Amino acid sequence: MILGGIALHERDAWYLQNRLTDAVRRVLPAGCDPADFELHASEMKSPTHGNQNRPPSGWAAIPQAVRERVLAEAYRVIRTYRPVDHRFPVALFGSVVEGPDRERRAYEEILHKFDEMLNRRTRERGERGERETGFVVHDKRAIERDVQRAAQNWREIAGRMGTLTHLADVPVFADSKASRLLQAADLVSWALWRYYGLTTPDTRWASGLWSLFDGPDGGVMHGLIHVSPRFRSGCTCPPCASRRPLPPAPLTE
Ligand SMILES: [Zn+2]
Repeated sequence: MILGGIALHERDAWYLQNRLTDAVRRVLPAGCDPADFELHASEMKSPTHGNQNRPPSGWAAIPQAVRERVLAEAYRVIRTYRPVDHRFPVALFGSVVEGPDRERRAYEEILHKFDEMLNRRTRERGERGERETGFVVHDKRAIERDVQRAAQNWREIAGRMGTLTHLADVPVFADSKASRLLQAADLVSWALWRYYGLTTPDTRWASGLWSLFDGPDGGVMHGLIHVSPRFRSGCTCPPCASRRPLPPAPLTE
């Protein structure tokens, strides 16, 4: 189970959406309307050519090399985005969970990590600082078949995790077609999937994102967790490596 997310201050929402749309406009051939092209990575890699049930994807008419350039440009926008207020940098979140009960665990980890970041940022601003509150928006297309069940699951998870003190409400569901920010979250998930979900990891998309996962002072990568039996046997992925104590320094005479 792989989940990814992007957290940003509300003031940055408009700017980041626009930069992503500009990235699409810059690379696509003249005459293409960026609004018709969702940044949905798996669709961009293998666009639907259409059948009796589904219309063809707009990406199907775009050559593969151009689609790859749009993808690369979108990742570059996320990687290089500078927030309006430097105290609120964009932070990525992710959970990669193997084993039983992975769906519930993956959602809990993400909610918990996000809440922890808001708590930390509130503390950093001191007693006079404003309390940070977060709001979670989930791509409803990712669970299109059963939105009601997913909404109920979220409610139960949020309810059970009584320690989520910085979330304004239970997550809401929206259509990623209408939101470049949900598309940005999809790009985070997809990069994680290319890294963790293939027999041979594809590092191309994730490698530029590691430093953006929430984690103060470059220590433990708090924003990303890999729950796997491989941790014990020495998984070397960046979040596992960041949680492993450094080997003792060699003794010298
Ligand atoms: Zn790992």
